[in-house]
Amino acid sequence: MISLKDVQAASERIGDITYVTPILKSQQLSHICGNQIFLKSEHLQKTGSFKIRGASNKVIQAIQEGAKYVTAASSGNHGQAVAYIANKYGIPATIVVPEDVSECKINAIKAYNGKIEMCGTTSAERLPRAKEIAVQENGVFIPPYDDPFIMAGQGTVGLEIINQFQDVDIVLVPIGGGGLISGILTAIKESNPKVKVIGVEPEIASDTYLSIQNGKITAISGTSTIADGLRTNQPGDLTFPILMKYLDDIVLVSEEEIRLAFSFVMERMKQLIEPSSATTVAAAMFNKIPFQGKKIVTVISGGNVDLDKISNIIVDTGKL
Ligand SMILES: *Cc1c(COP(=O)(O)O)cnc(C)c1O
Repeated sequence: MISLKDVQAASERIGDITYVTPILKSQQLSHICGNQIFLKSEHLQKTGSFKIRGASNKVIQAIQEGAKYVTAASSGNHGQAVAYIANKYGIPATIVVPEDVSECKINAIKAYNGKIEMCGTTSAERLPRAKEIAVQENGVFIPPYDDPFIMAGQGTVGLEIINQFQDVDIVLVPIGGGGLISGILTAIKESNPKVKVIGVEPEIASDTYLSIQNGKITAISGTSTIADGLRTNQPGDLTFPILMKYLDDIVLVSEEEIRLAFSFVMERMKQLIEPSSATTVAAAMFNKIPFQGKKIVTVISGGNVDLDKISNIIVDTGKL
């Protein structure tokens, strides 16, 4: 298991690369839900999501151990992050993406000089291919979440929240494979255990929720949630034990609630976020947690969304 020391080491390693992102307050949101709501704004992070934290920590460590080539299997935020950091350190990166990847995601990876290889449509096809290229090129495969360096890097979000906002009561974190929340739990519970950390998943991607209930890793068969960063089928072998140890609670939000929260943040707060990030705002907005008068930080995990898809996500917020 990683410890606070690993997160602190990550913070030193990546401090020159990542931004300390701002924590924004929403008066309107606070009014709606009876708690004071703050947004830890990783949509303003380099490459548009927190993924640059874990990717940088892992890739820099790999380079220190002699790596001259990295690969990843992700069309999304992790792929962009790995391409960015490899380019910054002057080593090649191949990002294996699905055949139906959108143009704008390809462009983002290309902008960081990442090489693109298309392979199948599922992660079951992409993952082995990215690992295979790593072996062929004598490089290192960079996993998206189930790795101590990735988890420790993502945990720097938690360190920052504690440093920026001493009074925080509750932190809401979206869960995909669990890299982000396992790092945040380690950082927060091992420095200020009074702060509650609550995970959020879409109702139709509830693999971690079910796993926590069952006390063991439980897979779902697949999901089409609009929160595309949270579409993993099961929590990781390394991330899950940390959740079992430290997690205070986990709550679910519906697709409609995600849409409403997304629309609210775009329209009222003028922040361009992605649906995965809107899950934490939805949890606060629709009173999924039984608290009032608390200071709640919602982790806004990223802001990468295809502009031409936004009109399909937006709903009327008039009744809020
Ligand atoms: C990857 C990602 C998540 C989920 O992170 P995990 O470490 O897989 O739990 C949440 N939001 C965004 C925007 C992401 O890119």
